[in-house]
Amino acid sequence: MDKRKRRVRHGMVKERARILVVGGGYVGMYTALRLQRKLKRELNRGEAEITVVTPDPYMTYQPFLPEAAAGSLSPRHVVVPLRRVLDRCHVIIGEAETVDHARRTVTVTTLATEEEGTGARRLPYDELVLAPGSVSRTLPVPGLADHGIGFRTVEEAIGLRNHVIEQMDIASSTRDPALRDAALTFVFVGGGYAGVEALGELEDMARYATRYYHNVRPDDMKWILVEATDRILPEVGEELGRYTVTELRRRNIDVRLGTRLESCAGRVAHLSDGARFPTRTVVWTAGVRPHPLVAATDLPRTARGRLKCTPQLTIDGVPHAWAAGDAAAVPDVTAAEPGTECAPNAQHALRQARALGDNIVHALRGEPLRTYAHRYAGSVASLGLHKGVAQVYGHRLKGYPAWFMHRAYHLSRIPTVNRKARVLAEWTLSGLFKREIVSLGSLEHPRAEFELAAGGKPSPEPPGDPKGSS
Ligand SMILES: Cc1cc2nc3c(=O)[nH]c(=O)nc-3n(C[C@H](O)[C@H](O)[C@H](O)COP(=O)(O)OP(=O)(O)OC[C@H]3O[C@@H](n4cnc5c(N)ncnc54)[C@H](O)[C@@H]3O)c2cc1C
Repeated sequence: MDKRKRRVRHGMVKERARILVVGGGYVGMYTALRLQRKLKRELNRGEAEITVVTPDPYMTYQPFLPEAAAGSLSPRHVVVPLRRVLDRCHVIIGEAETVDHARRTVTVTTLATEEEGTGARRLPYDELVLAPGSVSRTLPVPGLADHGIGFRTVEEAIGLRNHVIEQMDIASSTRDPALRDAALTFVFVGGGYAGVEALGELEDMARYATRYYHNVRPDDMKWILVEATDRILPEVGEELGRYTVTELRRRNIDVRLGTRLESCAGRVAHLSDGARFPTRTVVWTAGVRPHPLVAATDLPRTARGRLKCTPQLTIDGVPHAWAAGDAAAVPDVTAAEPGTECAPNAQHALRQARALGDNIVHALRGEPLRTYAHRYAGSVASLGLHKGVAQVYGHRLKGYPAWFMHRAYHLSRIPTVNRKARVLAEWTLSGLFKREIVSLGSLEHPRAEFELAAGGKPSPEPPGDPKGSS
């Protein structure tokens, strides 16, 4: 019996496998974790090698971004350090630019390639896991590129928090009523969980913060949610979506259904219903589209630009290529209607990643692949401290019980015991003491003070800075 066959018989991989994981989010991190656990022996013997390419050295637990924006959680506790958890993988901090699967290579730029000016580096692989997730789905709305604020990264969440508190400071100190009005007007576009949770948490935080301002009252602020369809939070079902609208309106939040943002040029939000709001804050959370990297590959895509996948999480008709998560169109085999794809959410991403990791191991060992099947269990959403909605396995919860469920669920889901302990400790402390309402916006310009002291000119604000100037 030849050596190769003997390896298969003993449950080992057929030959040395270089596995390349592109993306260090839900799918990338959980797949790599699964692989490093299941391929322990192979990694020790040098029969397998796992490389993860991702732009940031951490995985962001996105469902906690609204709580980070509200100051209930520190930014570093909503991210998971990849080098620590993926201690048996090579982690490369960089961006995949193109994928040439026919040649089994990915081109990658890193900070070093930029410094050296050498251009992108080619990384060869045997098995590819493509998981770059999604990006905001933007529309050609005038002024959006200049003034819009995204809400997908920890930097954006903390930037938005600082920005909101700064607007309250501006409103408190200006004598110009128009400036004060614009500073206290906050427009959120998109009524999915990212938009609704971000708005719910930030409004709650700002309302609380007004008690420390002598001249800003909760009623002075305008919080507006603009949604193009006739419902919000489709993830929790129709009835809870309606409840959420009522609950937000009860808090004086102006929820406008069937309405679109037509322009925010000149820092004035023009809505399709004719309303016009001068504002310094337009948060764009109107859906996602697959990451542009997907289009820079030679892999098959659906009409909506997601990678065409099989229920076994391979890329359709392409050997040695795998995908899952927001960038992948994975058939939902539990759906009644044929052709339904799994929705882009964390619930699927996490479970798909585990199945994907297992299937790569099965493939390497010559075993049959498992079909990914998960019936959507429902959703939980926070609408601010002690407020929420939840729909889990058909059970509907509102208010405090839903909020508690939201926290319990995400605490159980955030990776690593270390992170769970830190998050729990923070929640416990914030329950005992008053909320943090300080803005550390100056952290975004750490050299400004020294530049001034040294007689230089402070550097211009970085592009996309939500603070803007007008
Ligand atoms: C604010 C917010 C709240 C959310 N709340 C919920 C919730 O409550 N429940 C729920 O189910 N879902 C929620 N989601 C959705 C959920 O987070 C996503 O569905 C999930 O993260 C998808 O996982 P993914 O691995 O496909 O993508 P991601 O987790 O986004 O990971 C993609 C990774 O690829 C990396 N990457 C990007 N470009 C490149 C490149 N060129 N080269 C290499 N790497 C690259 C990214 O940096 C990132 O690390 C929320 C999303 C947001 C933004």
